[in-house]
Amino acid sequence: MTEQKSIQHTLRKDRYVNAHGGNSHFLDLYCSRCGQHLVLYQKDGRGSLIRLYLDRIFEPKELSVLQLKNASKKNMPNLKCQKCGLLIGTPMVYQLEKRLAFRLIRGSFVKEKSEGIYPPFVGTLV
Ligand SMILES: [Zn+2]
Repeated sequence: MTEQKSIQHTLRKDRYVNAHGGNSHFLDLYCSRCGQHLVLYQKDGRGSLIRLYLDRIFEPKELSVLQLKNASKKNMPNLKCQKCGLLIGTPMVYQLEKRLAFRLIRGSFVKEKSEGIYPPFVGTLV
């Protein structure tokens, strides 16, 4: 049995944090259809989650590295559940900040507060 080491992520502090009113926190997003973990995300500010900025996705690595690859909207993939293939989000550019993001599809995901630990602890429901 191999034990996967969990990573404790640290919240990013940059100009976007203040622009969005501070109050940054981690969120785990799960597929609403099959429960698969989708992303570990840093949300800045209050309000509902409408889009996922690429530079706020910490995990999985396949997604978090996109921001380093000189990505553009054209070469960004759709955000899909790795397990069941449900479409979660589509590429977009948030023009106000010129930031790449995924526009989330309402109802495709559920979110939970996270401590920034990945992989997330999956507890057994009692
Ligand atoms: Zn799924």
